[in-house]
Amino acid sequence: AESVIWFRSDLRILDNPALANALRQGCTKALFMAPLEQWLQHDMAPIQLDFIQRHLNLLRDQLAELGVELTCLTVTDFDSQIDCLTTYCQAQQIKYIYANSEVELNEHRRDQKIIANGLPLRLSEADVIVPKGSVLNGQQEMYKVFTPFRNAWLKKLRQHPLNLAFLPEPASPPVTAAHQPAEQIELAGDKVCSKKWPLSDIILQQVIPEFIDNKCQDYLQLRDYPGVKGTSGLSPYLAIGAISPRSLVNALTQTFPTLLDDITSSAFCWLNELAWRDFYKHLLFHFPELCKHQNYQQKYNHLQWPNDNALFDAWCQGQTGYPLVDAAMRQLLQTGWMHNRLRMVVASFLTKHLLVDWRRGERFFMQHLIDGDFSANNGGWQWAAGTGCDAQPYFRIFNPITQSKSFDAEGVFIRKFVPELAALPSKQIHFPHPYLHDTGQTALYCPPIVDHKTAREQALGFYKQHLSA
Ligand code: FAD
Repeated sequence: AESVIWFRSDLRILDNPALANALRQGCTKALFMAPLEQWLQHDMAPIQLDFIQRHLNLLRDQLAELGVELTCLTVTDFDSQIDCLTTYCQAQQIKYIYANSEVELNEHRRDQKIIANGLPLRLSEADVIVPKGSVLNGQQEMYKVFTPFRNAWLKKLRQHPLNLAFLPEPASPPVTAAHQPAEQIELAGDKVCSKKWPLSDIILQQVIPEFIDNKCQDYLQLRDYPGVKGTSGLSPYLAIGAISPRSLVNALTQTFPTLLDDITSSAFCWLNELAWRDFYKHLLFHFPELCKHQNYQQKYNHLQWPNDNALFDAWCQGQTGYPLVDAAMRQLLQTGWMHNRLRMVVASFLTKHLLVDWRRGERFFMQHLIDGDFSANNGGWQWAAGTGCDAQPYFRIFNPITQSKSFDAEGVFIRKFVPELAALPSKQIHFPHPYLHDTGQTALYCPPIVDHKTAREQALGFYKQHLSA
């Protein structure tokens, strides 16, 4: 009897517990079943589909070196994955199926169904640094606020060494060219080229060491400025599981041995972001209904979002007349990625200035992001809308002009993505309309779709009225 490693959102060789377990059983077969319809229903961005496809080809080559042959099949949805897996296991006489668990609701239900059907699915956990369900407060419940979660999370990290999943020596010889199909793996569906993002092997060899050895020291200072490359750019890899979050912490603590006790350091500030990532995954683990478009805070269920379509469209296209917002949205449309500071700014602008339901923004992000990840995206949107766990309170409303002056003072970022404003003086670029008017250039750039002060008052009234309803 044979075993099989089933890859899903863990497209990597290093620190992949399911793969390590499978190899220990002498496994020589790997399976990937692309559920194309399901991915569309989950709003997977075409650039992420392309990114997955490229990593599947890399994975196939890496697995071949380990004597494991990857079979890549196309199915429609999760139910057809179950059917396909059942047939495969019968045909191949599979004794064990090894996989890493996925926290999202539909994914979790699929796995439960497989187990209930009697298939021998053995699940490991590969998506977080500290195991989900293990970071609890005094009442044995999930924390409702980030900082105490982070402190308890840190305590776990200090107490328990990170046991990375090391690969055993391959028991089988490499899969030879004769067994390897010559064609590239091609996934059907709309794709957008993701080549600007190198494959994860380059990231592991070059980008991560360079970030940890050098850039990490300046992260604290630079991370909020979208015009500067101050962050790691690892989110696309973490989202599809091409890089292990635990191996990042492992590498970080090797370079910064006192990291876990030095919470004011720049390296810790970066670790803190990885803790946010864990926080939202743990949250989803405890509250799977978040996958059903629910507000985390039920008291916001009465909000009746006006959802003005024209305002929403202007936001989507980067035509709001607020340069930082427009630059951010155009960065998303052109590159499939957006800086974290800007994600907060545009999410706040959509929900509070334009009073559009956060779910519409959440969906639009998912449809365009290369790093689309349900837990981080939902967490970020609900944080911005004020409906989430440890959210920004509804009465705190980002001023897009002040944010622009603080984080893009010289307009470096705005000039890049809103080129019609490239020649404006820095002082005028953050809200250029009076200047454009005085110099007879109003045709250059779209007028503001809302007035900041009026929109702010309106938002406060909107939230207050519905909360007291
Ligand atoms: P770095 O600053 O280098 O951080 C390292 C890693 O920590 C990131 O790669 C990411 O995995 C994690 N991380 C950082 N910030 C956060 C955060 N606030 N929440 C959760 N994890 C974090 N991140 C996604 O990966 N996918 C999403 O779909 C996503 N949607 C978002 C939507 C909104 C409205 C907001 C406010 C944030 C969202 N984020 C999302 C979080 C964050 O913006 C990105 O992870 C970050 O910009 C990625 O850039 P980086 O890899 O250079 O991050």
